[in-house]
Amino acid sequence: MSVSTGTPLLPTYARFPVTFVDGDGSWLIADDGRRYLDLIAGIAVVSLGHCHPAPLEAAQAQLERLWHVSNLYSTQPMEELAERLSDRFGGAQAFFCNSGTEAVEAAIKWARKATGKTELVALEGSFHGRTMGALSITGQPSKRAPFEPLIPGARFATPETLTDVVGADTAAIVVEPVQGEGGVRPLTDSTLEQARELADEFGAMLVFDEVQTGVGRTGEFFAWQRSGVRPDALTLAKGLANGLPVGALLVRDGAPTALVPGDHASTFGGNPVACAAACAVVDTIDDDLLAHVRDVGALFAEALPDVRGAGLLLAVELNRPAGPVAHAALEQGLLVGTAGETALRITPPLTISREEVQHGIALLREVIGQ
Ligand code: PLP
Repeated sequence: MSVSTGTPLLPTYARFPVTFVDGDGSWLIADDGRRYLDLIAGIAVVSLGHCHPAPLEAAQAQLERLWHVSNLYSTQPMEELAERLSDRFGGAQAFFCNSGTEAVEAAIKWARKATGKTELVALEGSFHGRTMGALSITGQPSKRAPFEPLIPGARFATPETLTDVVGADTAAIVVEPVQGEGGVRPLTDSTLEQARELADEFGAMLVFDEVQTGVGRTGEFFAWQRSGVRPDALTLAKGLANGLPVGALLVRDGAPTALVPGDHASTFGGNPVACAAACAVVDTIDDDLLAHVRDVGALFAEALPDVRGAGLLLAVELNRPAGPVAHAALEQGLLVGTAGETALRITPPLTISREEVQHGIALLREVIGQ
């Protein structure tokens, strides 16, 4: 294991002391040749596993044809991805960008313009990104405080206080169907239904931030399909292109389009290579793979105490600081993340095999001490 020190990088991350050079399915290989079982998958990003042949071949083929033309022109991969996502959603139009936080920014601008209102209601404990707009609706005061003043009009609610906070001035209610960074906390169906009803009552847009939950992570293609509560718009990023940067805002057919040429843009958004990889990812996530996600997700819940989440977006509550446990896991050859202060986060590739899950559980039991 080599530790990078003195590298000229701004210290925005506390990195684990390991440098990876190769990836292979659910495994990562460090610069000293050691293999690690990857139960974090680049924080819920490498959905089909490292170097999966479908997105690899699609991206390689596209790299040899066309890299970039900007959004002044159309490209086939972008159009094909929009078609695929619309089909999966049941009718929607897409705006493409490069990350989750950018998708949330697009959603905020769209909702404000669509409603002519400015207030944004989000949930306490939520996470929507680090740019100024997305940070403004992130319900974690410690993340917002150093950067205030943020954009005005953000209001926070709990599921219990949603009815008190949403009102005539609300442009959008923005929620993660399963709160990810905030600790892997699924919202109940009744909270999602209530958000839908309040949005309808007050003419607000219901936006689901599916940056982490989308693209099969919870065992459905979109997490909203678990509850059946359809949002007016939805954000995607992380798992969409298996690790190439792409983000998307989907606006359902029938909701106001609102944005016109000149309102919003992204130079790199809809990049042909990222979109070609994303098309391959979407095509690979079929009913069998979604059933597999639900099955192997349940194995963790059966084998370990205090597991919450959905599909392969899971947290193991430790009731003690999770950081040292994640470091101990690394020493055992296992990558896991943390969710909040006291839980481990488990978001392996959706393709992880049952044997790999069993191996991961055995290592986890050792480091947790169960
Ligand atoms: N929204 C949600 C629900 C997320 O989980 C994240 C990242 O973890 C973001 C937005 C921000 O995405 P990105 O880091 O790609 O900007």
